[in-house]
Order: sequence, then structure tokens, then C-alpha cells
Amino acid sequence: MLKSDPALRIQATLRVMEHDGVNPAITDSSTFQFDTGNSMTDCFDGKLEGCFLYGRHWNPTNLILSKALAALENTESGWVTASGMAAITNTILQICSSGDHIITSVTTYGGTYAFFKNLLPRFNIAVTFLDISDLKSVEAAIRPNTRVIYTESLTNPLLVVSDIPRLAEIAHSKGIKLVIDNTFTPIIISPSELGADVVVHSLTKFINGKSDCIAGAICADADFINSISDVNSGVSMLLGPVLDPLRSASIHKNLFTLPIRILKHSQNAAYIAGQFRSKGAVVTYPGLTSHKQHELFNSLMNPGYGYGGLFSIDMGTKEKANLFMVAMQKRHLGYLAVSLGYYKTLFSNSGTSTSSEIPLDVQRSMGLSEGLVRISIGLDSDIGSTWKEMEAAYDEASQ
Ligand code: PLP
Repeated sequence: MLKSDPALRIQATLRVMEHDGVNPAITDSSTFQFDTGNSMTDCFDGKLEGCFLYGRHWNPTNLILSKALAALENTESGWVTASGMAAITNTILQICSSGDHIITSVTTYGGTYAFFKNLLPRFNIAVTFLDISDLKSVEAAIRPNTRVIYTESLTNPLLVVSDIPRLAEIAHSKGIKLVIDNTFTPIIISPSELGADVVVHSLTKFINGKSDCIAGAICADADFINSISDVNSGVSMLLGPVLDPLRSASIHKNLFTLPIRILKHSQNAAYIAGQFRSKGAVVTYPGLTSHKQHELFNSLMNPGYGYGGLFSIDMGTKEKANLFMVAMQKRHLGYLAVSLGYYKTLFSNSGTSTSSEIPLDVQRSMGLSEGLVRISIGLDSDIGSTWKEMEAAYDEASQ
């Protein structure tokens, strides 16, 4: 199948209108006017196409961002939320009820793991955690009440590649929905084109790219987005994690530089990961032929955006990981901080930070080393100089 270019799809959402601002006007209102009581009733009953009733439901600015994100992911519709976690939790709670079961990759963002492990059982929703690259175990874990197979396109922090087409086949043969978190690979992978039913994002990361806000998105077919925003039964409408329209507008502007930012992140990560590999460091990056699923990634990716901005270095011990991160920070290579997708380099020791919600024994059994440093490379213009400093930091910490 010939894939269409996500960058062109986003561009196509731009509106051309004489005398209009180049950026869409921001609708700074929490509520909207009606001419008559009857039209208000019709709007609440869902009988009026495209009307706005209250800002927790829809807002014109959020609608513009949602449409651009739906274009990015090539889905019929989209919805924006106040965080990536809201996108994930709302999606799962919209699909699942008490008595249901979900299957998830054991390697996921720690907050997602904690939601599945600690909160879902309180709602009588059972969860099986497994190695998502072991498709036989995914099939074997399916129960009559399984509603969702959940994974990240490229998992946090182990950078395991999810075989989305095969997972979709397995899910759909049993009437199960495949939900993919595409936070690590926006524009690089288009999960819905590969068979995913719902694509969720933490916009906080690459899509916004400025580390100045927290936001999320859900991209899916119109039925799903209508159900999640339904005034009577929609989880997002009723739990209310609405994104502020002022933030929506600024994320929308940043979205249009995503294609060039992702390409630069990818080029920089490929260069540094390659240098670490030549040096004999324990480096994981899907763009390296040494990555076990390099060929699988090749079969999933859109051409022209590389393999993403994330790689990891295993320093062996927590102590060495800390020495390495402090040495990098001292050399002004970036910040010892959680999160990713920023224009500066960010690094953290996954086991003690963004995966600390996962118990130590589970971390070890899934292959998460205590010395793992996850690095989100920045948009450095002279990556050769960055490497020289990073190599010196690595050598200093490895002594
Ligand atoms: N998904 C992934 C892969 C993440 O890494 C994160 C946060 O780090 C989230 C979701 C949660 O996003 P947010 O912090 O915007 O709620």
C-alpha cells in the first residue's frame, strides 16, 4: 500500500480565506449563544450539526487542532485532552466496563502501567501484561471478555517496536480494539493506516515540542469520538479533562514544524547512536541494524522522517547512569529531566523516574536495566561537537 505523506495531510487542513489571519482566531469563551430555547434543546439532543454549546464539550479552537491531528493520523476524527494520560484513561474507560479484560505491553510509560495495574482493578477491569513482541502469547492471553489490546508504537523506555499490522489482525479476528500510543513516533508511524482503531498521544512531547504545556489527543473514527464526547455517556465529557483553547492554539502552531523537527531529531539520534555503537557502548536505537526489530520498523515507517529522536544507553549500574547524566549536564548537553521531544536534549534514568511505578522485579524481568539512560536528543545544529562532549561524558562516567 502506498502511504500518503502526513505532512501534506496537515498542510491540507490550512484554511485560505481573503483577509483572514494566517493563524486561526482563538475562541476565548466557555459558553456559546443560541437564538432560541428550541435550538439550544436541539443542540443538546445532538440534532444540530457543528454547533457549540459549552467549552467542556467542544470549542472552535479545539476543533481546529483536533482536525489537524486527525489529518496527521489519517483518522476520520479527533479529540484533544488536557494531558496524554487523559487521552489514555478516557479511551480505555470509554471502551471497557466492569468485568472486561485488556491486554497490554508490559513495557509502557510508567503512568500508563500504574493506571492499568493500580486503578483499573478498582473498576473490576482485569489486565494482562506481556511481551508485546511475542504474538503467540498475545493470542493465548485473549479471553471472551477481552476488549482492548494496548501498546505503544515504540515502547517507553525499551524501544520495542509493536507489530501493529499483526496485532490488528489478531485483535480484529476476535472483535477486539487495538489502541496505540504513538507519542514516540508521530509522523514516522501512522498506526491507523496499519490497522489501529484508536491512536492516542501525549502532545506534551514531540508534537508540541516546546516543553511548555501538558496536553493529549485521541484520534479515531467519528463514532468513537462522538461516543467519548456524548453529553450523556461520554467519558471525556463527563470526567472533563478539557484542553484550554489558548493552549490548543499554541500547539496548533507548533504542529506545522513537526515534520522538520522530527527529521532533525532523527538525524541527530542516528548519528549519536551510531557513534556509541562504534565505540562498543550498549545502545538501543531502532535505526541501528543491531536493533532486533530494525526490519520490522522499516516495514512500518513512513518514508522521509527517520527513526525518531529517542535512544538509550545502558551504563550497567544506577551509579554509572547518574555519573553519566551529571557529566552530560555539566557539559551543557541538555537537562537531567523527564519528558522528551524538546528542542534541547533531555535525559533520565528510566528505572528510577518515568518507569519507577513498575516494581523492580518486573523491571528486571522485562529487561529494564538499572543503568538505562533514556536520551531524547535535541535539535543541535552541530551534532559532531555534541558527540565529542557526549563521548567525554560517557568516558568520564565509565572509568
Ligand atoms: N505516553 C507516553 C509514551 C509517555 O511517555 C507519556 C509521558 O511521559 C504519556 C503517555 C503521558 O503523557 P502526559 O504526561 O502528557 O499525560
